[in-house]
Amino acid sequence: MRKPLIIANWKMNKTISETEQYAQEFLRLIDDTEQLDLVICPPFTGLEKLKAVCKEQVNLGAQNMFWEVSGAYTGEISADMLLSCGCSYVILGHSERRQLFNENNYIINSKLRIAIEKNLIPVLCVGETLQQRENKLAYDVIREQLREGLAGLEPPGRWAVAYEPVWAIGTGVNAHPDDAQTMAMFIRSELGMLNKALYDYTRILYGGSVTENNAADFFAQADIDGALVGGASLNAATFVNIIRKYNY
Ligand code: PEP
Repeated sequence: MRKPLIIANWKMNKTISETEQYAQEFLRLIDDTEQLDLVICPPFTGLEKLKAVCKEQVNLGAQNMFWEVSGAYTGEISADMLLSCGCSYVILGHSERRQLFNENNYIINSKLRIAIEKNLIPVLCVGETLQQRENKLAYDVIREQLREGLAGLEPPGRWAVAYEPVWAIGTGVNAHPDDAQTMAMFIRSELGMLNKALYDYTRILYGGSVTENNAADFFAQADIDGALVGGASLNAATFVNIIRKYNY
């Protein structure tokens, strides 16, 4: 039985005081959600404040991480640093990292390796661009992202893959829930070919312009176990409303 997972990705938004305000409002609104894993991924600077306010009521995640444990890597952050702030999850391979920071599948594989070694729960993002979709390459691209990203690795039981079509991220144009389900099923079967156990235990999320209005349609899909939410997670009330769409 896969435990549903809903993740907020704040990207480069919110100062410390905005983080504190959000956390207080979120705690005021959120229901008892033991059936779900809830994760908020603020910028690194917001981690401590979020932990201090929310304590155990929300899981903390990072939006990125470096593949070495320490050393002369100016501007980077290590798994141990994230763990010391209370993080238990880390998003890896987000399309913004792939596109703006040239992260390829080999880099993402190195980051996944260190996350697994350090017991951070990885959330691997995969997704095709509009051009790749139009050229009927979406399945090939995602197969390659999975195979190269996971080469030689055995992800832990609570990990997740987020299917995030690049053309749906931050655009207001979400994938059709049926198409997202078809891709989630494809991802699950590809994972099953790599390692039979992954077929059953991997949580597959949909991400890309999820809102209060469409979340329930994604949550209703058989192979979709939750969502990775960007823009709509920046408002605590909206994010709570999305969480409430999960039929828990
Ligand atoms: C994301 O940041 O991963 C994302 C899906 O963003 P948005 O919900 O804004 O499309």
